[in-house]
Amino acid sequence: MLKSPEQYVESLRALKIRAYVGGEQVDSIVDHPAIAPHINTVAKTYELAHMPEHQDVMTTISHLTGERVHRYTHIFRSADDLVKKIQMLRLLGQTTGTCFQRCVGLDALNALYAITYDIDQGEGTDYHERFKRYLRKVQAQDLMLAGAMTDPKGHRAKRPSEQEDPDQFVRVVKRLSEGVVIRGAKLHNTGGINSHEVLVMPGTGLRPEEADYAIACAVPADAEGVLFIFGRQSNDSRKLEGGCDIGNPRFGVVGGEAMVVFDDVFVPNDRVFMAGETQYCGTLVNYFATWHRANYGGCKGGNADVLIGATAKMTKILGTERNAVVRDKLVEMIHMNETTYASAIGASAMGTPLPCGSYMVEPMMANTVKQNITRNVYQIGRLSHDLAGGFLATMPDQRAIENPEISEYVKKYHTANPEYDVMERIRMGRYIENMTSVTTMVEAMHGAGSPQAQRIAMLGQAAIDEKIEMAERVVNGDDDVEGLPLPGKREG
Ligand code: SF4
Ligand code: FE
Repeated sequence: MLKSPEQYVESLRALKIRAYVGGEQVDSIVDHPAIAPHINTVAKTYELAHMPEHQDVMTTISHLTGERVHRYTHIFRSADDLVKKIQMLRLLGQTTGTCFQRCVGLDALNALYAITYDIDQGEGTDYHERFKRYLRKVQAQDLMLAGAMTDPKGHRAKRPSEQEDPDQFVRVVKRLSEGVVIRGAKLHNTGGINSHEVLVMPGTGLRPEEADYAIACAVPADAEGVLFIFGRQSNDSRKLEGGCDIGNPRFGVVGGEAMVVFDDVFVPNDRVFMAGETQYCGTLVNYFATWHRANYGGCKGGNADVLIGATAKMTKILGTERNAVVRDKLVEMIHMNETTYASAIGASAMGTPLPCGSYMVEPMMANTVKQNITRNVYQIGRLSHDLAGGFLATMPDQRAIENPEISEYVKKYHTANPEYDVMERIRMGRYIENMTSVTTMVEAMHGAGSPQAQRIAMLGQAAIDEKIEMAERVVNGDDDVEGLPLPGKREG
């Protein structure tokens, strides 16, 4: 079944989600002005799946049931699936101009599908069949899933088992015959508040004595003991004001990240997909992170399309659009954006099968995508600021526009090319401000792993010794064919 956007919203309304915004418990997440923009964004993922022109990108056929399902609930069964995912992300980025949140749950779904297979192969357990039963339900109900991997981590120099407070990493505090009880928290949880379920995964490799921390499971967002604390964003109070200062009037800024607390939450066995198999945690983290890092070439590509559009529109409003330097700066923005998109498509097209039969992106390219995003999003934002001008930081607010005493001054002295309404300049400026401000930039830096995490992975995958051998063969002429003229052949 493919949920409609309305069904998504109503299904959230039916849940009793315990969420806090601005320190206060929210009565209805669906109606709260701080959360509604993020719900609207996810609703677009449901809406586009019903449009015939987007069916191929937004939906596919389940390998479990043969039914048409949303691509956000699908297991990657081919390199083409991986490519289509990146195309879907760019489309959604172009449509919403922000983060649409469902990718974390999708990659968590795929990581758990793959790791449960691996664990069963190695340990003779039956997690994979259990997971497939859960997956059928996710597909049948077209659920919005949040992926929860990042633990608070406490003292960074200490391992989970060495922390003064053992709850700094999510852990099992009680094992019962019917399930487990978990305690801890996960941070930076994208879309958590407006999800149906949270997929909990360990966030680091673990040692045998850390078995209690090796827990992967699915928790309903309104399960007893689960609560969400909404993060503060740089422009969040603008959403409560309305008017032109919001920036993106219908959709959120980044993914409505929240802290999710598990205060002794009971998880029944049929929702537990790893419980103590520490030796698989590193691989699980790696599966998830590698898929997720490739995503950023798609979603940020779509977001940058909107940002480039807003910047180009600003140059028209200012009357600078024909200036050769201005045009060249737009080209630079486009160049950076297409480079990361191309890497994401490349990582996907070069995908290879895992033991479970699903497809993994090419890891070097996937890590390179995310590494470039940590730079290019800043560079693209810098050029946008450059072209849009200091107005971005000094433009008056909605209240100044509404005050009859000063409104005319505001409009008169902010009008540039008179062909364009001054309010359009302000609206475009506010969108640029939103998409290049602290929250957005930090998300691009740390989402899907901080820059150093990619560099460690890249070094691990670079096969430097093989490159040394390549250099030796070329320089020393070791591959020479007998009888061919080789003027540079080394003697001896
Ligand atoms: Fe998806 Fe991008 Fe948001 Fe991550 S940052 S959830 S990949 S849209
Ligand atoms: Fe993200």
